[in-house]
Amino acid sequence: MKSIVILGSTGSIGTSTLDIVERFPDEFRVVGLTAGNNDATLEAQVRRFKPRAVAMANELAAARLRQRCSGLSVEILSGQEGLIQVASLPEAELVMSAIVGGAGLVPTLAAIRSKKHIALANKEPMVMAGKLMQEEAKSHGVRIFPVDSEHSAIFQSLEGHRIKDVRRLILTASGGALWDIPKEQLQDVTPERALQHPNWKMGAKITIDSATLMNKGLEVVEARWLFDISESRIDVLIHRESIIHSLVEYEDRSMISQLGLPDMRTPISYAMRYPDRLPLDLPSLDLTEVGKLTFCKPDHDRFPCLGLGYESLRIGGTMPAAMNAANEIAVEAFLQGGIRFTDISDIIQSTMQAHSPRDVTSVDVALEADRWAREKADSLVHALAR
Ligand code: NAD
Ligand code: MG
Repeated sequence: MKSIVILGSTGSIGTSTLDIVERFPDEFRVVGLTAGNNDATLEAQVRRFKPRAVAMANELAAARLRQRCSGLSVEILSGQEGLIQVASLPEAELVMSAIVGGAGLVPTLAAIRSKKHIALANKEPMVMAGKLMQEEAKSHGVRIFPVDSEHSAIFQSLEGHRIKDVRRLILTASGGALWDIPKEQLQDVTPERALQHPNWKMGAKITIDSATLMNKGLEVVEARWLFDISESRIDVLIHRESIIHSLVEYEDRSMISQLGLPDMRTPISYAMRYPDRLPLDLPSLDLTEVGKLTFCKPDHDRFPCLGLGYESLRIGGTMPAAMNAANEIAVEAFLQGGIRFTDISDIIQSTMQAHSPRDVTSVDVALEADRWAREKADSLVHALAR
């Protein structure tokens, strides 16, 4: 029986993780849950999974949750301190990190520092401070298991092989909701249109990131730190069907990959129960039904964010953190109807141009770059505001 904490339990990854727990009640015990401000969903989860402690980022939501849960034996905490406490619960062995955005950095680091293995869905902290997170994981003797489907595919394709034999990693990308929209029409795309992802049902932020290809830019940075490989050996391939979840090319030109229908429960369960594979009662991939798989190169002209991901790594230091923060601000402004779709990449690029990167010698340095870039991007949003 593995005791787990889920950070971001009310989100897309969080609820899929609880689906796995429900399917395998003898394998997992939920000891802690956290959420942003959705007290109604967290109440239902508390009643169903009976965690010892929960935390909400939003204090008002936590107060509402205390009313909803009066009479239940659960400790209800709030704010960043509360998230840290739940992430560090002594009885937890594994923490599913599934908060969206940079807000997950401090709680995920707290989990690492209290010697929890990490199942990492929340990619933004790896972008902000990947080197530091890996060093902390190493010094505390814990592992970071990828949940992101591409990184899980690479992780699985590396099993039984040696990293020194790897020639390159190839991340596949669906291309998102707008892959076939002509350049001149991109500026008029609405949030509703950009949220129509062809293959995956995910939270709003990552769905917009898929449409801009920033998601792939973030994933290049994530792969750089997860697998300790230089960005010059990471390639991206557009693969509309999302069946091949990524590939590893070895020095002898063999390629090994992991395939499956797009369902996050497969990589989630692998990260939760590694090295065991849980018998998931899901539809099998029928390749005759899929018929053909297609591939093409990414279009950097229409989708400049992927290139920004590479550039942030080449510049190094706090540049990826600044890029990530600017993206979070720009995506939120786009979702609120404040800026155009094409403004997102402009805002990230201008923020990166204005940023003076420093070495990420501590989490505070990464957080300071994050704060600076949010302010900068916010001022750019206001200058553009419609
Ligand atoms: P989501 O928006 O559906 O859920 C986010 C969760 O984080 C919710 O529980 C929310 O309450 C909580 N949260 C939001 N803001 C918070 C804050 N400031 N402080 C504390 N908690 C907060 O997002 P998601 O789609 O589940 O994605 C979660 C993470 O996993 C993201 O980093 C995303 O890039 C990554 N990821 C998601 C998928 C997917 O299929 N959804 C796939 C790969 C990677
Ligand atoms: Mg992914």
